[in-house]
Amino acid sequence: MTSAPQGKRALITGITGQDGSFLAEQLLSKGYEVYGMVRRLSTPNTQNIHHIVDRIHLVDGDLHDQASLESAVRRSEPDEIYNLAAQSFVGVSFNQPVVTGEVTGLGAVRMLEAMRSRADKARFYQASSSEMFGKVVESPQTERTPFYPRSPYGVAKVYAYWACVNYRESYGLHVSNGILYNHESERRGMEFLTRKVSDGVARIKLGHARTIRLGTLETHRDWGYAPEYTEMMWRMLQQPTPNDFIGATGEAHSVREFVDLAFRHVGIPDWSKHVELDPRFARPADVDHLLGNASKAREKLGWVPKVKFADLVRIMVDADIRRWANAASGPEKLVSA
Ligand code: NDP
Ligand code: GDP
Repeated sequence: MTSAPQGKRALITGITGQDGSFLAEQLLSKGYEVYGMVRRLSTPNTQNIHHIVDRIHLVDGDLHDQASLESAVRRSEPDEIYNLAAQSFVGVSFNQPVVTGEVTGLGAVRMLEAMRSRADKARFYQASSSEMFGKVVESPQTERTPFYPRSPYGVAKVYAYWACVNYRESYGLHVSNGILYNHESERRGMEFLTRKVSDGVARIKLGHARTIRLGTLETHRDWGYAPEYTEMMWRMLQQPTPNDFIGATGEAHSVREFVDLAFRHVGIPDWSKHVELDPRFARPADVDHLLGNASKAREKLGWVPKVKFADLVRIMVDADIRRWANAASGPEKLVSA
């Protein structure tokens, strides 16, 4: 592997996830030497990065394990650290609140400590979340809106957010929070709403399934396209001073609208018989309506997301239709939520 033209090195935790894989591609195309931290699994989970695995360095590490994080930082000698790893699914956080607190909350502090002791000149991006606003106290939300998390996931992200602010203020480290609203893609985890719907609609269209079971149709999210949000992460770390930014489209849509557009896209305008409400997928406390105001990112970073809600739905449904259609002609084993 040749070294990056401008000699910059980045360490990404969560590189096997949706955002980590897009960010890795983008940093490679900018000439970075990319290190990705991966945890040991009995069955490797590298489908999102298999196309770039020869161009990146994978280092072992787990957010539970301080020594492994310090070793990952020592080995990669990063100029930039993107802490994207997390137990990222709100639904599971209600059943696994302690693991979520350990990984999503304390894991960020462990990464900050690893940076402080091994790479204190590096710049640090923390994957903060609109879920921190939870039961919103104002709409749209800005960087100054108080937090009111509604799940163990949201609570853990608030802890990590404040830890980042505290490390910045206490030790002068270059640490920034991206408070990102939901961003989705064809690489989104199967259990998330958008992907569950795009995959379900594709299977119904191709005759592999009849119904999709959902928890509610009424909640609203500010949904954007993931590669645009990972580009924003990079822009944040190019700023001379660390800062916190909201990343959002400024448009909220309901689950019902997502479902409706997805079915209409495949020519099924009357989808009522294909969708069932199932309390197993409802949450003890949900977040009803999220809407972000990203003017600070627009003004200071020049960041403006271009992919609209309807485009996002089409991108995801088309990708899942291709995936299922290809599977019919090949040996690929497919999974759904
Ligand atoms: P994904 O769930 O796709 O990826 C999560 C990553 O974290 C995976 O690579 C996973 O590895 C890794 N991971 C999980 N547990 C550990 C652990 N104990 N040690 C090391 N790595 C671990 O998330 P996204 O890419 O969608 O999101 C990236 C980050 O942004 C997350 O922190 C998420 O909470 C946050 N976020 C996401 C938003 C979104 O809409 N996508 C919105 C706001 C914030 P493995 O493959 O081994 O499971
Ligand atoms: P979140 O915003 O991080 O929780 O992202 P999700 O994609 O998991 O959920 C978005 C919204 O869709 C939430 O309000 C969920 O309660 C709602 N939703 C409704 N039915 C489902 C479902 O079956 N699965 C998921 N994941 N979410 C659902």
